[in-house]
Amino acid sequence: MAATDPMVPTELGDARTLTGVRASAAALCDEDYPPVDGDYQNRTYFQPVALAGVLAAWRRTARLIVSGRVPGDVGLYIHWPFCPTPCAYCYCDRRAGADAAERRRGLDALLLELRTFAPVLRGVVFSQVQLYGGTPTDLGAAGLDRLFAEVRASFALRPDASLCVETSAATLDESVARSLVNNGVTRVDIGVDSLDAAVLARERRGQDERSADGALRLLLQIPGLDVGVALLFGLEGQTSASFVRDLGWVLRRRPRRILVYGFDPRPQTAFARSGAALDAPARERIARTVLATRPVLEAAGYRADESGWRPTSSLLGVGWSAMSRAFGSLWYQHPPLDGRPVADGAIPPFLGMSSSMAEEMRGYVVRGLFAGGRADAAGFRAAFARDMTAAPAVSRPARALERAGLARFDDDGLELTAATPALRARARSFFYSPSVRRALASRGAAGFASSGAPCLSYSRGDS
Ligand code: SF4
Repeated sequence: MAATDPMVPTELGDARTLTGVRASAAALCDEDYPPVDGDYQNRTYFQPVALAGVLAAWRRTARLIVSGRVPGDVGLYIHWPFCPTPCAYCYCDRRAGADAAERRRGLDALLLELRTFAPVLRGVVFSQVQLYGGTPTDLGAAGLDRLFAEVRASFALRPDASLCVETSAATLDESVARSLVNNGVTRVDIGVDSLDAAVLARERRGQDERSADGALRLLLQIPGLDVGVALLFGLEGQTSASFVRDLGWVLRRRPRRILVYGFDPRPQTAFARSGAALDAPARERIARTVLATRPVLEAAGYRADESGWRPTSSLLGVGWSAMSRAFGSLWYQHPPLDGRPVADGAIPPFLGMSSSMAEEMRGYVVRGLFAGGRADAAGFRAAFARDMTAAPAVSRPARALERAGLARFDDDGLELTAATPALRARARSFFYSPSVRRALASRGAAGFASSGAPCLSYSRGDS
């Protein structure tokens, strides 16, 4: 009986009978995207770690990578928190309205952190660089040039490394576009979000249809650049009609990728902090509308995007709120800036938790279940040189889920069959290690804070 299985919490067994719209696994947002309010590798239960401890962890991981004992794919994430103006719906760690001196201190801190980690990562070759925020192109061409010069001086990049940058219409001009080209950027995501006049009257200052069109033209004329355009539905004042119009506007411009998000009023948004909330019908309407764009995107030749960010086994995160994984040694994160001014150009503090091979295995499964509703056996084998079925850290909870009728577990991996976002979140928690459970209990950390608003990622089938 599932409900009496000691591995299955009673409420999860009962919740199997809940009805509701089956959430598309691929439609859930990425809990790894800083700031992390996800339910695993979560700074809310991490402890302070000294810089010396973080460097020692990377030294250990670098040795393991170089000797081939752990996977060698390593990414670099850089967080630039500044934006020209704030958006009330935004849940990223961002700070708006900072003056030039403060932004200079922000850049100094990033450059210092890159230089500090360079010596311990000699011999490691990075396959991805992600520059997100905030609005990284708010750095301007000169700032971007300095940052990329430091990245290349500090770390070895694979010749085919992906270099991805986030931008906005308000911060992209010809000099910035040139800098992206000169620095070898391969992929740009531009947040257009909405062109609805009622939305633009209070959000995304500096963006209108003309500036969005100009920015997109600049990007689309760069040969070989992988351009993604993000739209959002569910904002205050936004109508379904204007959302449909915006979707048509983007489709006519044929970027390689289109991302469609539902407004997700996480606790850190100014929207939620003002005491505002979305009721259940509003959330359902957002989810329905976003999911209804699928056939439209498909009719226009777009397909669900399989080429999204493949998480790297190790990740060096630099800047406020950036999260890091030194594979098998340490998970850590800088705290979010959370709107506070940057007081100096020093490296932000570290909050972390020791890792191990078993923790990495659990993390692999939790992230896979979160991002796509499944943890793939082939990827597991590639990362850990063993089968999922032979790794007790994940096979025991996987079998418990299967007995509860909430998942399939076979040679291809683990696939959730649980029907609702809440149920799926509970299913993921089966894989939490005792130390994570203890930390969660002792810190009283909030669980996953997303409303489960869908986000779709589509790319042109003809590319
Ligand atoms: S939505 Fe984009 S531009 Fe607006 S505050 Fe957030 S990161 Fe900045």
